[in-house]
Amino acid sequence: MSVQTTLKRKINLKGIGLHAGAKVTCVIHPAPANHGIVFLRSDLTNQPRIRADISKVVRTDMSTTLGAGGAVVATVEHLLAALIGMGVDNALIEINGPEVPIMDGSSKEFADAIDDAGVRELAVSRKALQLRRKVAVRAGDKYIVAEPAKKLTIKGSISFGHKVIGEQVYRFSSGGDFQKELASARTFGFLREVEYLHKKGLALGGSLDNAVVLDEARVLNPDGLRYKNEFVRHKVLDALGDFALIGMGIQASIEVHKSGHELHTGFIRKVLEDPSNYQIVELGKAATATSDVEEDDLDSLLAAAY
Ligand SMILES: [Zn+2]
Repeated sequence: MSVQTTLKRKINLKGIGLHAGAKVTCVIHPAPANHGIVFLRSDLTNQPRIRADISKVVRTDMSTTLGAGGAVVATVEHLLAALIGMGVDNALIEINGPEVPIMDGSSKEFADAIDDAGVRELAVSRKALQLRRKVAVRAGDKYIVAEPAKKLTIKGSISFGHKVIGEQVYRFSSGGDFQKELASARTFGFLREVEYLHKKGLALGGSLDNAVVLDEARVLNPDGLRYKNEFVRHKVLDALGDFALIGMGIQASIEVHKSGHELHTGFIRKVLEDPSNYQIVELGKAATATSDVEEDDLDSLLAAAY
């Protein structure tokens, strides 16, 4: 699709935050072209807005947390993945707490709600960040390597010394069936980590209802896995959600190995720090503009951030 989109109607969701375990209500409103994806903390005085943008990332441990003016919104990645995966460019997400509800630990309920509401085209063309050369980031044995490509492909790979997980590789491309292939893949964790986090007062909302939990030998969830390689699919889902923080689609073939939120956001920063790494293209039009103009386009998009 070469034009921007939004929702046909607003969406209401209720759930609990993973880390604080508190109840939260989330209303996703349609928004005009060039608005982007913006969170609004309706429970705080002045109702601060926080743009889903790399410049607003304040934490990447456990989940991706955005912040602006002292207000934060945590665990944005599964909702962002659902919006991007379902093709929604513009939305205002009103939330009455510091954390997006974890729902079932995947993007399924968000994606199903977007599907029910419907997606509407807007009469303004979409922009995308087109990678012009190879960009790589590494941290120990973890890495992200991206090469120029005509569309977005994310190839995820993981390696765990656990017999249920082991080595897994999964590839998802834009145009693929997000709802069927990725949306239902849940976050996962190990029982020993969950116990440790609970002791530290973290992941208080975490349970078998919103994560795949493994002990030393097996999956503890009574219904088992949703996909045999649910683990790596979830890693690809997380990457897709974090890449939404570019503020537009990215056209590149990206390999993410043992990656997480820290590396995803580090990769975005590395791409953006050197304007010769990319050009901004208007979809449906030939990429003929000079790179100066394209940089200005990105600057103005970033400048429009709340
Ligand atoms: Zn996740």
